[in-house]
Amino acid sequence: MKSRTLQHSNGPPKQPLETVYCICRRPDTGKWMIGCDGCDDWFHGECVSLQPTDEDLVDQYFCPGCQEKGFGTTTWKRKCRLPSCHNAALIAGDPPSKYCSPEHGIEFFKSKYPLADYCAGEISALAGAVADASGFRELGNDVPAPGSTNSRADIESLLRRDVEKLEPQKDAINRRKNRVGARSKFISMAKDRQKRVGDELRGEGDQTSKGSKEICGFDIRLAMDDEEFADWCESEEGQGVFSQGILNGREGLCTKRKCEKHKYWLRIAMEDIELEERLIGERSTALLSEENGLRQRQNIKSLMENQRLR
Ligand SMILES: [Zn+2]
Ligand SMILES: [Zn+2]
Ligand SMILES: [Zn+2]
Ligand SMILES: [Zn+2]
Repeated sequence: MKSRTLQHSNGPPKQPLETVYCICRRPDTGKWMIGCDGCDDWFHGECVSLQPTDEDLVDQYFCPGCQEKGFGTTTWKRKCRLPSCHNAALIAGDPPSKYCSPEHGIEFFKSKYPLADYCAGEISALAGAVADASGFRELGNDVPAPGSTNSRADIESLLRRDVEKLEPQKDAINRRKNRVGARSKFISMAKDRQKRVGDELRGEGDQTSKGSKEICGFDIRLAMDDEEFADWCESEEGQGVFSQGILNGREGLCTKRKCEKHKYWLRIAMEDIELEERLIGERSTALLSEENGLRQRQNIKSLMENQRLR
């Protein structure tokens, strides 16, 4: 696939303006064009309903005329899984990826499963007039006015409330951890079955097994999205599979020896697991340090109070 705009042409050398291209038989207007891999003519994106953002996604381009003559059909690369990104996924990369870059993998999971970012500023605001540890220290120096809202009990209850506010986020993280764990377990069961069924087929005298190439081994449940998979895990079938720790039978299994469709399924499935684990790890660490910070403030405040009451 080739493409160009007038300014930075990597196509044919600039030609007199009379030269006409495309289905419209008009000259190069300077707008983005795409080259046909069949007839080598150039086509205005607008005339063939393609946009410059398609550039990296078109694998091979065949113009309407060439498609009609059966010279070929336009093929597309797989797009990066992040909806806002128009780059091609590194599906044939090493390792293969559903994303154009590791950063977009992380961004995809952050946007898909937000775990309620915790805003540190909120805690400080809630602890009344006291913004940080040094604030607490200064507070200890003051003689509080009677009925002050900054009394020890008030501040402690505010801090306790903040710590409690972290609970739903901890729950969310634990839920994701469990889901990722289930996915991971399922992948290893699918791997086991790939080998087992491959051996079975060989035993059954499967003629196609010559050369002992592994079967594809992809399982349709690997294509489920997060919710569907969670539902399946809770179904009778899913619970049975997980309690036995084995994927029996061949239902949902791809037994092709040379499978283009599911190529790299294992590494791509593992990529998602790794990305999510990384993200969960980051969130857990952030939450933990938030909690520790809160408890530390509580301790400092208690110490201050004890000194003051002496
Ligand atoms: Zn045109
Ligand atoms: Zn053509
Ligand atoms: Zn991307
Ligand atoms: Zn397959």
